[in-house]
Amino acid sequence: MSDDCIFCQIIDGDIPARTVYETDETLAFLDANPLAEGHTLVIPKTHARQLQDLDDETATAVYETLHRLVPVVEGTVGADGSNVAFNNGPAAGQEIPHVHGHIIPRFEGDGGRPVHAVAGSPPELSEEDLDTIAGEIKSNA
Ligand code: 5GP
Ligand code: ZN
Repeated sequence: MSDDCIFCQIIDGDIPARTVYETDETLAFLDANPLAEGHTLVIPKTHARQLQDLDDETATAVYETLHRLVPVVEGTVGADGSNVAFNNGPAAGQEIPHVHGHIIPRFEGDGGRPVHAVAGSPPELSEEDLDTIAGEIKSNA
């Protein structure tokens, strides 16, 4: 629990939320400023700022809840698909510093864009650059 965290306050019931699903480790509720009908947030019940701060068990629990809810949310609002994403860190647009996965229902012709649209200008990388990056990530993983 982090005293100044809005999502911890939702977990504690100090701030109201439209809860749609709950497990021992996770909570799912409607986003207060939905980008689409059914826009849902999935959070761990323990405070953690970013994905890399979650222990393995909690990370798995968050994914299990996302996995369960994606078809439920899509089906409930009659969506044709969804974007499922984490803004991980302030540089990536994370405003609430408590891990949360977004389920954003998508509809044919809704004017939205794919997740590829979120990044800045794409870098120019050679095949050699890509090999180097892949090798470094592989050795660090
Ligand atoms: P972020 O940019 O951090 O990934 O997204 C935070 C999300 O939390 C935003 O979509 C915002 O609308 C939502 N949000 C912020 N404050 C509240 C709140 O008090 N209740 C709910 N249900 N959603 C919130
Ligand atoms: Zn928190």
